[in-house]
Amino acid sequence: MKASLQLIRSCCDIRGNCWLWRHGVDAKGGALARFDGVVRRVRRVVFELDRGVELASQKIGARCGTVRCVSPVCAFEGTLQEIHAISSRLGRYSTHYKALRIREGKARHSKIPTATVHAVRAASSTREAMQATGLSKSWCNRLRSGMGRNTAVDRV
Ligand SMILES: [Zn+2]
Repeated sequence: MKASLQLIRSCCDIRGNCWLWRHGVDAKGGALARFDGVVRRVRRVVFELDRGVELASQKIGARCGTVRCVSPVCAFEGTLQEIHAISSRLGRYSTHYKALRIREGKARHSKIPTATVHAVRAASSTREAMQATGLSKSWCNRLRSGMGRNTAVDRV
């Protein structure tokens, strides 16, 4: 796409000052797009266009703390520490948030299908769970004790 604020804005959902990117993102949810054949971080491109900077030297964070936000109002140039400080104030490193991320990661990387996890937990005994699913005793015990997978955050 052409690097223009207007064009980028038209690819976002506008929420107050925030521009929430509707298209491709990286593994952490940061907006990415191809500009003149080069894949770049959209927030950085917006920052450079808005401030008239040729190449921003530092990292570009978002004051609102929304990963998907590429708004020039929220964007700021800062060190990793400054960006982390904002995330921290917004509770990104809290135990609760961390636990959620870990559970999501486990569910994503687990080779055991969600239906099997449910079957193991629904069984009246470990032996029954083993017979129904073919999983090992240790896996059945782990799943039944609530470890290995939290079904509350399973993706469909
Ligand atoms: Zn924002």
